[in-house]
Amino acid sequence: MSLSINDSKIYQVIESERQRQLSTLELIASENFVSEDVLEAMGSVMTNKYAEGYPNKRYYGGCEFVDIAEQTAIERANSLFGSRFANVQPHSGAQANAAVFFALLQPGEKVMGMNLSHGGHLTHGSPVSMSGKWFDVVSYGVREDTHLIDYDEIEALAIKEKPKLLIAGTSAYPRTIDFKNFRIIADRIGAALMVDMAHIAGLVAAGYHPSPMPYAHVVTSTTHKTLRGPRGGILLANNEEMIKQLNKSVFPGIQGGPLMHIIAAKAVAFKEAMQSSFREYAKQVIKNASILSKELQKEGAILVSGGTDNHIVLLDVRAWNLTGKEAESILERAGITANKNTIPYDPQSPFTTSGIRIGTAALTTRGMKEEEMMQIARIIANVLKNRENSMLVEKARMEAEEICKRFPLFQQAITI
Ligand code: PLP
Repeated sequence: MSLSINDSKIYQVIESERQRQLSTLELIASENFVSEDVLEAMGSVMTNKYAEGYPNKRYYGGCEFVDIAEQTAIERANSLFGSRFANVQPHSGAQANAAVFFALLQPGEKVMGMNLSHGGHLTHGSPVSMSGKWFDVVSYGVREDTHLIDYDEIEALAIKEKPKLLIAGTSAYPRTIDFKNFRIIADRIGAALMVDMAHIAGLVAAGYHPSPMPYAHVVTSTTHKTLRGPRGGILLANNEEMIKQLNKSVFPGIQGGPLMHIIAAKAVAFKEAMQSSFREYAKQVIKNASILSKELQKEGAILVSGGTDNHIVLLDVRAWNLTGKEAESILERAGITANKNTIPYDPQSPFTTSGIRIGTAALTTRGMKEEEMMQIARIIANVLKNRENSMLVEKARMEAEEICKRFPLFQQAITI
C-alpha cells in the first residue's frame, strides 16, 4: 500500500508503535489488542460516511449500508448484555457518561459517584471534568481498613445528600461490585442509577462479573478495555423512555455525526464477544490476575484490598519505598508498561501517587497464562526492589522481550 511512500513519517511512527506493542509486556489495565477483523472494519471506507441521526431516521442520504451496520451493532449489544435498547454512537466512554448527565440532569443538580482517588473515574464528578464543574458533586470512597466499598456508608451519605443521579462503576477497583445494593440505595432516595461498566464490560459479557443490567436505569461502557473492541462508548437501557432521552442527548445533544467505521468495528467485536472462545478468554483474564496478585504478594508486595476479583491488581509501592511515578518509570525500563495510580487515602498527589495499576486483559489476549504470570510477577518485584542495579533491569527487559516473542501479536504487518 502507499502510506509508506506518501507519508513516510506517519508510516514510520505507526510501524514503531507496532514494534513497541509487539516487544513489551502490556499491563495497562484499560488496554487490549483488538482482532485483525476489528482493525479491518476500523480502517474501512465506512469512515467516509456522514450519518447524523439514527438508522432509518438520518439527516443524510446514502445511509442504506451504514444503517445495517448500526442496526447490527445495536442488536448484538442487546443480545450480548441482555439489554432491550442500546445506543452505539458515543465516541468514547467520557461521551457516553456526558450523554447521561445531559439527559437526566440540569446544570447544578446533585450527583454522587466514587472519588477518583479511591478508584472512580474523572467523569464521575472530578472537579477538573465537566461532570464536576457543572454539577453539584458528592463523592463516596472505600473503607480505609479494607479498601472495599461500604454499602452502608454509601446509603447513609445518599440519604443525607439526596443526589438525583447515583453512579456505580470504577477505573481502579479490583473487587466485584454489588449493583443490586446500589439499586436499593438509589430507590430509597428516588435517584436514577447509572452504572459505568467500562473496565469490566468484557467480564460482564462473558458472565464472570455480575451484570448491572437488571438493576441500572442506564449502563454506560467503553468498548475497548476487557471487551476488546475498537475505542468507543455505548449506552444500554431497558426502558423505552430512557433510551429516547439518551438518543436525543447523544445526537444532537453532545455529538455530531457518528463514527460509522467504529460502529461497524463495534458490531464485529460484539459478535466476537458472543463466542465461547471469548468466555474462555475472560475466565483466563481473571485467573491470570489472581495468579499475578498472589505471586506479587509472595514477593512482598502490598495490594490494595489484599487481592483481586477481576482483571485489575493495584499495588501499593510504598512497600518498596517507591512512588507510583518512580515505579512506572522503572517498569518501563524493564519493558513493562503499566501506569501510576492513586491508591485510597494516598498521601501523594495524583501526579506522583503511591500506586501502580496493572491489568491482565491485554497479555491474556496474547495467549499468556499462569506460568507467564508467575514469571512476570517475579520480574516486576525484582526490578522494583533492585532498581539501582541497571544490569539487572536490562536483563529483565531482555526477559520481557523473550516472553513477548513466544506470544506473537498480529499475524501480518497491519500497515503494509
Ligand atoms: N469510565 C471509566 C470507568 C473508565 O475507566 C474510563 C476510561 O478510562 C472512561 C469512562 C472513559 O473512557 P474514554 O477514555 O473512552 O473516554
